[in-house]
Amino acid sequence: MIFAWLSIVSRETMKHAFSRRSRNVLPFYRSSCIMMHRSLSIRRCLVPMSHEDYMLEALSEAEKCFASFDVPVGCVIVDASGTIIGRGRNRREYGQDATAHAEVEAIKDACTHTHSWRLDGCTLYVTLEPCPMCAGAIMNARISEVQYGAREPNTGCCGSVLNLFWERFPYRPKIYGGILAEASQNMLDRFFGGIRNNAAKSQNRNL
Ligand SMILES: [Zn+2]
Repeated sequence: MIFAWLSIVSRETMKHAFSRRSRNVLPFYRSSCIMMHRSLSIRRCLVPMSHEDYMLEALSEAEKCFASFDVPVGCVIVDASGTIIGRGRNRREYGQDATAHAEVEAIKDACTHTHSWRLDGCTLYVTLEPCPMCAGAIMNARISEVQYGAREPNTGCCGSVLNLFWERFPYRPKIYGGILAEASQNMLDRFFGGIRNNAAKSQNRNL
């Protein structure tokens, strides 16, 4: 009896999760349903996603960058209710657009979704420390909190080169770093390792 009811609940939940209107909350339902099947506990299916869960979503966006030979950086924006309202990935090479960084793409997506440029109360998850352009976009969008993964020693503006968020700007979000930093860094190493290997192979062919 319980199994039959659970099966109906999960079928209805998945149907809703895959409908077009709810595509942005799919990750929540997906992980919830996995948890429900694992534990057969309805209570646990209502457990909200953690910072790590959201960063995994950002990492899944970053993974898509490999197809266009873009540096793998991914981003998601989450509103106060825990729903993902914006997604972005680095598409600089794909679009030949210097401003197509993951954070800017996610902010545009979230603004489109909410019909507002004000993203107060939202948290931005990005796999790599934001650059000056993205730090500026984050402040302009009034994002309340930033969670980033790996440090960016060349352009990072959360303390690596400088901390723009400590300057006397009128709007300053809370900044937290190091969420799944190793996974983010490993993905970057895999990307740059692949480029080096391909360069070495073509050099050997030309000898
Ligand atoms: Zn950037």
